[in-house]
Amino acid sequence: MLLKEISGVGKTTLSKLNALNITSIEDVLLCFPKKYEINKLDDISSRKINTQMMFSCQVISKPKLFYIRKRLTKLSFQCEINTFKFQVSIFNREFLSHSLNVGVFIVVSGKFLKNFNNFTASNLVLLENFKEGIKPIYGINDITEHRMTTIVSNILQNDYNIDDNIPEFIKNEQQFSNINKIITSIHQPKSLDEIQNAKKRLIYEEFLRFGIRIELIKKLNSRITSPKKNYDINIIRNFIKKLPFELTNDQKQATNEIFLDFKKSTRMNRLLQGDVGSGKTIVSVIAAYAIITAKYQVAILAPTLVLANQHYATFKKFLDSENIQVELLTSDITAHSRRNILNNVKSGKTNIIIGTHSLLQGDIVFNNLGFVVIDEQQRFGVEQRRIIREKGINPDILMMTATPIPRTLAISLFENTDVSSIKEKPSNRQNIRTEVIGFEDLEKAYKTIEDELNKSHQVYVICPLIEESETKTAVSVEEAYKMIVKRFITAKSDILHGKLNDSEKTLILNQFLSNKTQILVSTTVVEVGVNVPNATTMVIFNANSFGLAQIHQLRGRVGRNDLAAYCYLVVDNISDENDRLNILEKTNDGFEISEYDLATRGPGEVFGKTQSGIPNFKFANLINDVEVREKAFLDAKRVIDSNDFISRKLTNACLKSIESYNLD
Ligand code: ADP
Ligand code: MG
Repeated sequence: MLLKEISGVGKTTLSKLNALNITSIEDVLLCFPKKYEINKLDDISSRKINTQMMFSCQVISKPKLFYIRKRLTKLSFQCEINTFKFQVSIFNREFLSHSLNVGVFIVVSGKFLKNFNNFTASNLVLLENFKEGIKPIYGINDITEHRMTTIVSNILQNDYNIDDNIPEFIKNEQQFSNINKIITSIHQPKSLDEIQNAKKRLIYEEFLRFGIRIELIKKLNSRITSPKKNYDINIIRNFIKKLPFELTNDQKQATNEIFLDFKKSTRMNRLLQGDVGSGKTIVSVIAAYAIITAKYQVAILAPTLVLANQHYATFKKFLDSENIQVELLTSDITAHSRRNILNNVKSGKTNIIIGTHSLLQGDIVFNNLGFVVIDEQQRFGVEQRRIIREKGINPDILMMTATPIPRTLAISLFENTDVSSIKEKPSNRQNIRTEVIGFEDLEKAYKTIEDELNKSHQVYVICPLIEESETKTAVSVEEAYKMIVKRFITAKSDILHGKLNDSEKTLILNQFLSNKTQILVSTTVVEVGVNVPNATTMVIFNANSFGLAQIHQLRGRVGRNDLAAYCYLVVDNISDENDRLNILEKTNDGFEISEYDLATRGPGEVFGKTQSGIPNFKFANLINDVEVREKAFLDAKRVIDSNDFISRKLTNACLKSIESYNLD
């Protein structure tokens, strides 16, 4: 049957579906709900603090409307269930005030945050519009939930047949149902158990495909060779002795692992992970020096100008006295000095070149590139990593990341990559006292800012937007700047964001660094590399629009010496998404945070879309579904070696997708 023959699919709907690449009945069936709305009323006697609940109640007072700030309003009114009375608040629903007359019955979902007098609702419907049960939510742009549910149900009434992509031998072992049964369960579940059971198979299948892909990539990659690097261990030992500090054990181990790779004739592909400030850079300095004693050149690729500058300063500081030529290549230098640098890189006079994306340009030719360091590797795409690699003959690669994840997971995620982790921090860094607050309690953060300014310390204020926007409700840099200037009259404030050009940015940062400005209102451009130890407080507006790992990086800008440091995570609606942000109040350990982030948001969100090797799973959760993951990864090897039709088909499909992807 054709899609257009299904009732409910008219001309307009068909073209909307086609635009989303949904062109057949099978495509519709494989378009799974993004989530389920579980409409089940709770009994008021079972109420709990800080737990999502749903109640049916009666409105007993006229709603009052409060203007908290631009585009943030709050409706508040009394409700009653039997004789139990409580206050309900809901944000940004001023339009509801007309229908919320005294006596009306409604259903609210949300939380009692601190006590049972106040309920913060995230959703509210009239009781007459409420239906108990499990409702799939497809979340497809342009197509209403109602239409989608109708189309799916009309398809399910007819005959349909979806290809089953799990080999029989596995289906038998795991006792999985046939895919057609799974499809019905997913679209029209009658119970939560039914969803769980169907999901189990879908999760397994996602991991199986991913596992096959990883296995195949490993096989292909093990064939890539790279010259052994005969470094001079004595020079390096001396150099390490001369450092102003003793390396931590983790730093020593990471260095050893890298050196072992240098000696192998296979290409090194190593990820060095550790929190901001854990001391990754010095490890890369030592590794670079070793490569130079083996008569090779080194390229250091950084995602931002700020970071490139900072690495340049660090490398020069440690290596100038060793007679090593370090050069910085950025986009804002003159044509003349660029030509000079390029000549020196080509002749081999330059030992280390540090730069941003400008290092990827075609006219940059190396004499003998043997080692590439890619900082914040998740910010570079597969293609960019390939370009820099091809400037040498299979140079060894060291990638660095401050979004660390558990080792076993990193190994399976980053395909053929080896992993070194730095867990201990060098100096006894301050833990950053972090607190999630509602916008209404902003004064609390302001009070801390005031105290810190009085101690001559400095402050960051971070916002998700640059300019005020008609459509977005988040706080912009412009808006925050106005609030800050009004509240802190004697302090000097400044604005920083990505639309400024490089020299403007540098100027503003330098003013902040030299304490000529005390408050810097900024977008996330300060995320990496900015180092102003006198800054002790950070306020992040609309914190829930950022990832956990990103907030953790951001707050790493404060607490950079022995001064007490504070971070306020401001949210509009304190009932939403707090669980996620609360982990930042509890821990300062980047490994723990990114693990939680991965579990709640998935790899695509955490590592960025450019990390194209990692799929965005629809069902599977890398952290929570560990057992299924491990089983599926083991089975992946068996599928590759099996000869039945489905196994061959799966393996070939994976091979094809790898061929169009550059081996890493
Ligand atoms: P990362 O690159 O992991 O963010 P850095 O290498 O920039 O961290 O290190 C942060 C700071 O700690 C730097 O000033 C560095 O010189 C210093 N540092 C690095 N290793 C040690 C150590 N073992 N002992 C003391 N200080 C160290
Ligand atoms: Mg660093």
